Amino acid sequence: MKKFIKLQLLAIAVVFYSCGSGKMDVPTAQTVDFTVNLNDRSNDTFKVEVAPPVLSEDNNIYQFAATAPGTYQVMDIGRYVTSFAAFDKNGNEIGTKHLSTNQFELSTPEKIAKIEYQISETWDTPVEVNPIYLMCGTSIENDHTLINGQAVFGYFKGMQGSPLKIRLDYPEKWHIGTALTLSSDGTYWASDYDKAVDSPILLGNLTKASLDVQGTNIDVYTYSKTSQITSNQVLETLKNMLLSASGFLNGLPVKHYTFLFVFEDKTAGAWEHSYSSEYIYKEAPWKDLKSSISHVTAHEFFHVVTPLNLHSQIIAHFNFITPVPSEHLWLYEGTTEWASNMMLFRSGQNSMDEYFKNLERKITIDTRHFDQNYSLVKISETSYTPEGNKQYGNIYMKGALVAGLLNIRLLELSNGKIGLVDVIKKLTKEYGPDKPFDDASFFGVVIKATYPEIKDFIDKYIEGTVPLPITDYYQKLGIDYDADQNKFSLMSQPTKDQLKLRKAWMKPIKID
Ligand SMILES: [Zn+2]
Repeated sequence: MKKFIKLQLLAIAVVFYSCGSGKMDVPTAQTVDFTVNLNDRSNDTFKVEVAPPVLSEDNNIYQFAATAPGTYQVMDIGRYVTSFAAFDKNGNEIGTKHLSTNQFELSTPEKIAKIEYQISETWDTPVEVNPIYLMCGTSIENDHTLINGQAVFGYFKGMQGSPLKIRLDYPEKWHIGTALTLSSDGTYWASDYDKAVDSPILLGNLTKASLDVQGTNIDVYTYSKTSQITSNQVLETLKNMLLSASGFLNGLPVKHYTFLFVFEDKTAGAWEHSYSSEYIYKEAPWKDLKSSISHVTAHEFFHVVTPLNLHSQIIAHFNFITPVPSEHLWLYEGTTEWASNMMLFRSGQNSMDEYFKNLERKITIDTRHFDQNYSLVKISETSYTPEGNKQYGNIYMKGALVAGLLNIRLLELSNGKIGLVDVIKKLTKEYGPDKPFDDASFFGVVIKATYPEIKDFIDKYIEGTVPLPITDYYQKLGIDYDADQNKFSLMSQPTKDQLKLRKAWMKPIKID
């Protein structure tokens, strides 16, 4: 994810960018059928109907999400439910009880044929605590609708792994953008609840543009309030980023990917998913948004590497009931932020000067605006607490700076042969989307995959709060860092060794 963090900095307000659906037949056994009526958009609520398979006593809770992967925030979706009723096959109401914020108890689940509930959109529903980031929430308007699965759908206790069949009733002229699979009967299919949450849906007056990038099908869907931004414009800008990513990673690791853009009244940020990502921006002339969007899409797209292909069991078996933090935000967000900037630099889309300015900005924000007693691991572990959540934004600053240093250390130890991207690629081969790593022992895996010296690096700068050795490390590349001025510059007379390492660090990506 990438939030936009607004800070008053040196008396200047600066905005930092933060953070193939072919038709197929699908099995119907044990599938939970959902129907969302988007023709009735009254009261800012989604009207949802759920037809479950035959339930048992073990399925006596209907669960709404307390949080969702990649957000690191408490959501408590049950707060938005405005009505909830269960019925048997004859239409008689069956007793239900709002047990806790996110749970509805069902008195005789085995008799339930249908559940009907209404749930408010998160955008226009004020809440006192834990407001949901716009890009992670829902919006239901006259000419478009944004659905993030965890804010509309729930699941029966014991059935997080059951498939969902989703029917969306919507105005005939609307278009629909999602990475979900379209079935032959016109419904969308998600293999389980996690997949439904992992696949946002944007509907309405949208434009669409598509592109094949070295065998990967890319779709862009755009809602623009006054129609001034089109998917063609956006895709034209994304094209170079995608080609660079392919060069950086030796081919894209997914066969299809969907970008969803909403240009409306507010700039909020972006949220990554396995096969899609969504972006909420204030509508403005495209030339004013282009640069920010290149950076943010590069960041979000990079998440296909981690967490999609490299993640811990905490993400693989996600707990929607109680938020459980992973220790490894340094990897999911810090490394992703570093890699996306490095990719723009190595492909020539950003100059060395721009790369340096980016580092300088991250150093300023890290040191001036965030608590230096929070290690990257502590930021991870406390992200769901009110205090810890205030430090979360630093994962894009200090997290990216530390990844940059780790890359330099690896290049130094390997004599320029192995950098951080090589290590991550190696680990994604060892693990991959279906083989999560153990959260508690992963640092040991990283050390084993690299050098014993990396333990000291992790102890000091990822688990610990030792001040970052920026000057020392960049010197290894023949780059001066003046800490007083917060300024990077190339050394006028670097040594042969420094030049050699700098060359490995810069390794250009060719875009065909
Ligand atoms: Zn992110």
